[in-house]
Amino acid sequence: MKKIYITRAIPDIGIRMLRDAGYETTVSAKDGVLTKNELITALKEGEYDAVLCLLTDTIDAEVFDAAPNAKIFANYAVGFNNIDVAEAKKRGITVTNTPDVLTDTVAEHTFGLLMACALRIPEADRFTRAGKYEGWAPLLFLGTDISKKTLGILGAGRIGSRVASIGAHGYGMRVVYYDIKRNEAIEKETGAEFRATPEEVLKEADFVTVHVPLLDSTRHLLDAARLALMKPSAYLVNTSRGPVIDEAALVDALKKGVIRGAALDVFENEPSLAPGLAGCDNAVITPHIASATEETRGAMAEIAATSIIDFLEGKTPQNIVA
Ligand code: NAD
Repeated sequence: MKKIYITRAIPDIGIRMLRDAGYETTVSAKDGVLTKNELITALKEGEYDAVLCLLTDTIDAEVFDAAPNAKIFANYAVGFNNIDVAEAKKRGITVTNTPDVLTDTVAEHTFGLLMACALRIPEADRFTRAGKYEGWAPLLFLGTDISKKTLGILGAGRIGSRVASIGAHGYGMRVVYYDIKRNEAIEKETGAEFRATPEEVLKEADFVTVHVPLLDSTRHLLDAARLALMKPSAYLVNTSRGPVIDEAALVDALKKGVIRGAALDVFENEPSLAPGLAGCDNAVITPHIASATEETRGAMAEIAATSIIDFLEGKTPQNIVA
């Protein structure tokens, strides 16, 4: 019987699919992220044929060595910066991800963050719960309108395009975007205008939202110099990967009023926050939950399980990244 290892409990549907397909499926019993050593030990003990891993697992040569029979690693995420894809390719190991099913959910979370920040909802919630509300006041928690403002997208792939669509069709926003590839579909659907550099987007937009994958070329895509190009009235939203933004520079920009606010679902050194970030009232922060709806996390489990089943049955799985 083929053996599968899942590095942490995922929605039951994925586990059931693998067991129903006749595979011996082991789920890590730890209620937390496995350390590298724990992962390697578990893999060595089990002689697994496939691994379903998470974005919190670092999958590299040492891990591949620990599971020499596992020729597929199905990542339970669309991003796969946690996996040494070049090493996987070299060894003929298949790596898959879970795109598409989470696009709407992440785009909705992105817009939720954008709105929460612009309308100061978490800040006002904290104030009201603290018993500080003493009656309606004309200057209480003045926020920023969203409708008809300029939305700047960095990375107009699946999620960036969906955010553009929500902004354009839901809020009448003008959309400008930067991507290494021009996206004619988003231009047609939303009237989005292409900009040849991120700098142009940063200068123009009232809201900048980041949807690039984490690559060497996107690490610190937003650094102090680029943040300084943004309007002082502008907001920055990041639901992509934390290291795309220099978080210390962002904290500095938030404190000095270089930009008006930021909303982040991802952080440079998760689960830690950059010093000072938690104290910024003009930041809205969520703990990497942009895809965390029951429906979407279930669908991601189904896709990851399907990839493994297809692979072990000798079919080519969808969503191969390497
Ligand atoms: P995608 O591949 O469809 O889109 C990424 C886009 O970024 C592409 O259009 C690509 O051309 C562009 N790009 C690549 N390098 C670039 C660069 N240097 N400058 C500008 N653009 C560049 O991916 P997607 O499905 O839209 O997901 C985007 C990212 O969102 C994922 O890689 C993942 O890291 C992140 N994500 C986060 C969460 C979360 O829970 N917060 C959930 C899902 C996805």
